[in-house]
Amino acid sequence: MENPGVEAPRPLTILCITGWCRNGSTIIGNVLNEIPGFFHVGELHFLWKNGAGKGSNVLCGCGTPLTECSIWSTILPLGRPAGVSAEDYADTIRRRQLAYVRTRHTWRVLNRGLYCEGIREHAALMARTYHAVADLVGARVIVDTTKIPGEAALLPHLEGVTPYFVHLVRDPRAVAESWRVPKQYAYTMSSSKSTAYWFGFNLASQAITRRYPDRSFFLRYEDFIADPPGTIDSLLRLCGVDPAANPLHGRSIELRPNHTVTGNPDRFRSGATVIRDRDDSWKNGLSRRARLAATALSWPLLRRYGYADGGSRGVETIGSRA
Ligand SMILES: [Zn+2]
Repeated sequence: MENPGVEAPRPLTILCITGWCRNGSTIIGNVLNEIPGFFHVGELHFLWKNGAGKGSNVLCGCGTPLTECSIWSTILPLGRPAGVSAEDYADTIRRRQLAYVRTRHTWRVLNRGLYCEGIREHAALMARTYHAVADLVGARVIVDTTKIPGEAALLPHLEGVTPYFVHLVRDPRAVAESWRVPKQYAYTMSSSKSTAYWFGFNLASQAITRRYPDRSFFLRYEDFIADPPGTIDSLLRLCGVDPAANPLHGRSIELRPNHTVTGNPDRFRSGATVIRDRDDSWKNGLSRRARLAATALSWPLLRRYGYADGGSRGVETIGSRA
């Protein structure tokens, strides 16, 4: 029997995208953001650092500084003790992130959960933040494209949330080409460095999907752009949402302004948007040396993900329900 005096906590789903940067997570998040009840937060991990002006950029996807945005100006002060500046609070959170949820910590979080006071404090902040955002915007699904596997591994330990994991990969040579070309606030990176990160982030993401196979989905960016609506259907099914809610019926979609905390600079664009088909410009853009470095450093995952002969081969089973 219902008790009219007690409001049941709103069940909150988190659809978390993991993997290495430049894998197309921002556009996938922004498509999902169009679904009623969904809210794409961008890369939430960077909220406090960027909000204190210490990150790569201070702007929300809506174009205003995070500290002035209608959403983040409300969320940023949560949990900040009286008398502590936003800068000092951001430093405290950053220290916890570096101590407990870096990619290298993924296995420790998976195996030991909330094993000390510091990680419990970080988990409490993240849970509070997700719930506050959901309550503020009326969302029941938060899409987080942070991609850092250590943060993703923490999600099953947050109170009142049900996480789902999308391990999103993209051909490491296309990723290296993306890092080669400077754009807006994003810095550049060598092919070797990008691919070393690609390897580590994907290996850690695999550990998560192996641990939680029933709530995980393996996705290649190339398969998303080959069939954008079909991919969104799959992601909706993953988190128990009727695919009838899919806003995408072809390659075109009308995007509203979003409130993403960092991500691909394309997040600032709204209105009519076309999801481009396959782009193999890396084949001409990357030097032979850079291409060889990306191929060598991504092996054997390159082969495992079906990129060894140009990306046309299937993917080996990797323990998710993809
Ligand atoms: Zn905003």
